Formats: sequence, C-alpha cells, structure tokens
Amino acid sequence: MIPYGKQNITQQDIDEVINALKSDYLTQGPKIKEFENAFASYVGSKYALAVANGTAALHLCTLALQVQPGDKVITTPITFAASANCVKYCGGEVVFADINPETYLLDIVKVKELLLSSPKGTYSGIIPVDFAGKAVNLEEFRELADEYGLWIIEDSCHAPGGFFVDSSNNSQSCGNGNFADLAIFSFHPVKHIACGEGGMITTNNPEIYAKLLMLRSHGITKNDEFYTNTLDFANGTSKAETYPGWYMEMQTLGYNYRLTDFQASLGISQLNRAEDGIQKRREIAGKYFTAFNKKDFVISQSGVVKGHAYHLYILEVQDRLALYNYLKEHNIFAQIHYIPCHLMPYYRNLGWKEGDMPNAESYYKHCISLPMYPTLTEDEQQYVIDTIFQFYENR
Ligand SMILES: *Cc1c(COP(=O)(O)O)cnc(C)c1O
Repeated sequence: MIPYGKQNITQQDIDEVINALKSDYLTQGPKIKEFENAFASYVGSKYALAVANGTAALHLCTLALQVQPGDKVITTPITFAASANCVKYCGGEVVFADINPETYLLDIVKVKELLLSSPKGTYSGIIPVDFAGKAVNLEEFRELADEYGLWIIEDSCHAPGGFFVDSSNNSQSCGNGNFADLAIFSFHPVKHIACGEGGMITTNNPEIYAKLLMLRSHGITKNDEFYTNTLDFANGTSKAETYPGWYMEMQTLGYNYRLTDFQASLGISQLNRAEDGIQKRREIAGKYFTAFNKKDFVISQSGVVKGHAYHLYILEVQDRLALYNYLKEHNIFAQIHYIPCHLMPYYRNLGWKEGDMPNAESYYKHCISLPMYPTLTEDEQQYVIDTIFQFYENR
C-alpha cells in the first residue's frame, strides 16, 4: 500500500524516545527547551515554543494576539480547517479570500480588494498558509498588513525548511519571524517532522513570547518579575526578602497545551534529518514534474519552485474521481487537499456558499495529491507514475 504521506522512524529515533522514557522527566523536562532551541535555529527565529499540536499552536496565537468576539480575520479556503477555526475559538469572524489559481496560495490581490472595500480598522489580521510546502511571499503581505494595522500568523505546517526569495534576493525561511508576527508548525505523522502529535510556534517578539509561555501552561508564571501579589502575601505571615520556592501566580486564563519530553526527543531526532528529507522530497517532485509535464490529461501541476518544501505534490487532472478510485484499486492512496473550508457545513451555516470562492472551488474539482514522502522508493514512485498513465491510456 502506498499512502500520500508517511512518517519515517529510524532506530536512532526509537533509542532517543527510550532514553527520554528512562529519564527523570516525562514532561516539563529539559528535552522541551532543547527541541525549541534546535527548531528556532533551524527556521532562524528568536523564539520557539513547543506545544501539544498544530491546532493548539494556532489557538495560542489567536489568544496571544487577543482576538475578540467580532474581530475579522482573513484566511484561505484551501487549507486544513484549523487555520480558520482558531479565529472562531476566540469568537472572531473568519473571512475567506480566494486563492491564486497558479500558486494555490491566498491571493494578495483578493486580500487587497477586501481591505479596500471596507473602512480601515474592519480587519484585525491575516492567516496566510504555506500550502503544500510553497512559501507565501510574506514581504508583500507584511507591507499590506502594516498599511492596515494587521497582524500576521503564518500557518507553516506544510513548510518547515521552506523559504521564499525576497526583493533583496535573500532567502527568507518559513517561520523566521522577519515578516509574520507568529508562525506555527505541526508534527503530525504526515508532516515533515513527526512527534505523534505536536506543534511549534515561532516568533521574534519577546512580549508575545512571554504571553505564549503563560498561556501554554494554565496562565501560570513562575517568573518573579511578573508577580503582582506582594511579598507579604506570598510569604504568609513571615517577612522575607524573596518569594518562596513554591510560589507561582495564575495571571490569565490559560490551557494545558504542553508537549511531553518523549515527544520532544523524537522531534529533536527527526529534526536532525529534516534537510535530508526535504532534499528527497525535491527529487521526488522533480521526477513527477518531468513525467507529467505537458501531458494532455494534466490541467496544472506543482512546478519545480525554489524553496518549496513539498509537503504535497499536486496534480490538477481531468476525470479526477475515476483516477482516484483507479489508484485506490491499485493500492495507491492519493488524497485531496482540501475540500474548500468555506463549504464545510459549519462555515456554510455561517453564510458561506458555492460561488463565493471560484478559484478555490474550480481547483477542488481537479486536484489530487500524489504520494510524497522521503521513504517513497524510486520503484514505488515509478509504479505511481505508470499507473496514472495506464489509467489515461485505457480510458
Ligand atoms: C496539520 C495542519 C494543521 C493542524 O495541525 P495538528 O497538529 O493536526 O493540530 C493546521 N494547519 C495546516 C495547514 C495543517 O496542515
């Protein structure tokens, strides 16, 4: 069976997890900071905060940015629902803007149209998604966001190790914090780095980082610089110079969105191989591109793009449903990314309907994600390619 995506667990990974299980800490131990430091240096951000999963990462971001009931936030309909749902968790309003049909990414032209069509102050933020592993040009989005006083959360679940090239010809890594206020990643097994469940937030903003730290763990701080209760109160009846060892304060309504130490040790071990994984993904993408280039059944396909992290390799094809079923009969489990988010019943109930996002909807009719993961062998990839050609020859 050939799935569309799959984790790669080595003996080294297993040994690292066993070491963590035998250590003093299953959670809240030293592996968390070690993973965060390694991840921050991988993407080039100042801060990284490990969390329970990518959805928790998104929720903490909207909390830290203080999304309030009624706040309007713009995102793309071609993404996993969590990119939009994090706005709803805080009572905000999701406003979808259509994709660019060539890049499949949130179209900045459509976002501009939205911003221009209402008074300044109507929108509070934008959540662009590095969909399929293709990095959003955040330099352009930052300029627009600054003009309208908006924050940016980069959903980079598909693109750790990806980058775009800015106007000064510098490579800008996804999640490096140079343009977005916050970026988030997921360590679900189908993503580049697997922890089972897991996520990461990156930022260069020290105030936001301090808030996130607290929100991740019940709104509790153990940093005496932030304490608001007096020393007298903290010490009970005795007078002392410092806060006692047990002291802590819950200052805001937080959650338990922590990662465990054994998940973090798996993450560290996986991160060590991340660049090799991306290299392999780029080779696989190159081979697909060559195989399907200018074939009459292909409407469009993921190109060979600098900085693309190739979480997915997408073809837009004729007769998609029949192809999907044919591949399945041949033990190839392709996938569809995504059913447009605005047409999910939950969002339909909020007023979204067919025809609202024509580019996303026409993309959805033809898209199919082919098997793409570092351990996909050359023979397996050739079998996928041959089976697709077989299907169109026999039609
Ligand atoms: C996977 C994913 C998420 C959610 O991550 P989880 O770790 O599964 O909660 C959010 N956004 C995108 C684009 C994703 O692919």
